[in-house]
Amino acid sequence: MGTDGGQAAPGAGVLVTGGAGFIGSNLVEAFLERGFRVRCLDDFSTGKRENVAPFLPNPRFELIEGDVRSLDTCLTACQGMDYVSHQAAWGSVPRSIAMPLQYEDINTRGTLNVMEAARRRGARRFVYASSSSVYGDDPRLPKKEGQEGRVISPYALTKRCAEEYARLYKGLYGLPTVGLRYFNVFGRRQDPKGQYAAVIPRFVKALLAGEAPVINGDGSYSRDFTYVANVVQANLKAFSAPPEAWGRVFNIAYGGRVTLLELYNVIADALGVRVPPRFGPARAGDIPHSFADIGAAREMLGYAPEWDFRRGIMDTIAWYRETLA
Ligand code: NAD
Repeated sequence: MGTDGGQAAPGAGVLVTGGAGFIGSNLVEAFLERGFRVRCLDDFSTGKRENVAPFLPNPRFELIEGDVRSLDTCLTACQGMDYVSHQAAWGSVPRSIAMPLQYEDINTRGTLNVMEAARRRGARRFVYASSSSVYGDDPRLPKKEGQEGRVISPYALTKRCAEEYARLYKGLYGLPTVGLRYFNVFGRRQDPKGQYAAVIPRFVKALLAGEAPVINGDGSYSRDFTYVANVVQANLKAFSAPPEAWGRVFNIAYGGRVTLLELYNVIADALGVRVPPRFGPARAGDIPHSFADIGAAREMLGYAPEWDFRRGIMDTIAWYRETLA
C-alpha cells in the first residue's frame, strides 16, 4: 500500500470505475502520469475501447472488463487498491427519464456495490462522481452544498442516493468517502455522438459539419461549464482529503456562468462558422441555471481550478477539430 495523499506515492493503486469513459479516461491518464498503478473497471456500455487503448502497453495499467452491478466483480476490482475513484454510471437526464429502471440498477445499486467492495477491501478513500443535478428545483444561485431542492429526474435521484449512502458508509463503517458534485464537465474524449450527447460536443459536431445545432429552450439557460482538468485536480485532492471532509460532498466547477447562447457564439466564432442556431423546446428534467459556489471544495480539499471556460473550450475545440475532421 502506498502512503496517504494525492502526492502520488509511487506504486499506490487506484481503481477507476468507468475508466473507459470521458472523465474516467482523463483520470486514468493523469493518474498514470503521476506514478500510480491504475486499474480500470468498465463494461464499455457507453465508454470506448479507443479511450483505453493508449494505456494498455503501460505495465502500471490494468483493465477489468466487467459490470459494477456484480458485487463479486467489484470485490475483485478493489482488491489491493489504495484509492477508488468511482465514475461508472449512466449519464444524461433525458435518457434516465426514458429508462428509470436501468438507472436504478447501474447508478444506485452499482455505486452501492463499489462502495461496499471499497469498505471490505479497506480502501483509503472512496471518491465518487455526483452531479449538480442534485440541486433539483431549488432556484437559489450560486448553488451551495446544503441548499438542495427536490430532484426532478431519475438520474438526479440516483446521485442523491449515492450521496446518502456515502454519508452513511462514513458514519456507520468509517469509510472515508468524498463526493464530488460535477457541474457540466467538458473536454477531450467527451462523446459527440448519439441523441444523448452533451451540449458542447453536440454544438461542436454540428457546427464543424456546417449544420445549425438545436438549442433547447431560448438560449438563456446557463451552466457552470467545467473543464475536465479541473475535475482531475479535484479527484487528486480528494485522495488526501482530511477527516472533516469524509462523508461530505463538494461542488466541483469553475465558478462561472455561461448561457447556452453565449456558448453557441463562442464555439461558432472559434470555428469561424456562421449558421444561426435553431431553438427547440426546453427539456423536462433540466434545471434552468447551474452556477456553483466552490468555497467548500477550496477550503476543505484545497481545490483551485486552473482552467477557465475560455481556455478549456479552445483546447476542446482543437481536439474535436483533429478527431472529427
Ligand atoms: P461516460 O459515459 O463517458 O463514462 C461512464 C463510463 O462508465 C463509461 O465508460 C461506461 O462504459 C461505464 N459504465 C457504465 N455503466 C457501467 C457498468 N454497469 N459497469 C461498469 N462500467 C460502466 O460519462 P462521463 O461524462 O465520463 O461521466 C463520468 C461520471 O461523472 C458519471 O458518474 C456521471 O454521472 C458523472 N457526471 C458527469 C458529468 C458530465 O458533465 N460529464 C456531470 C456530472 C456528473
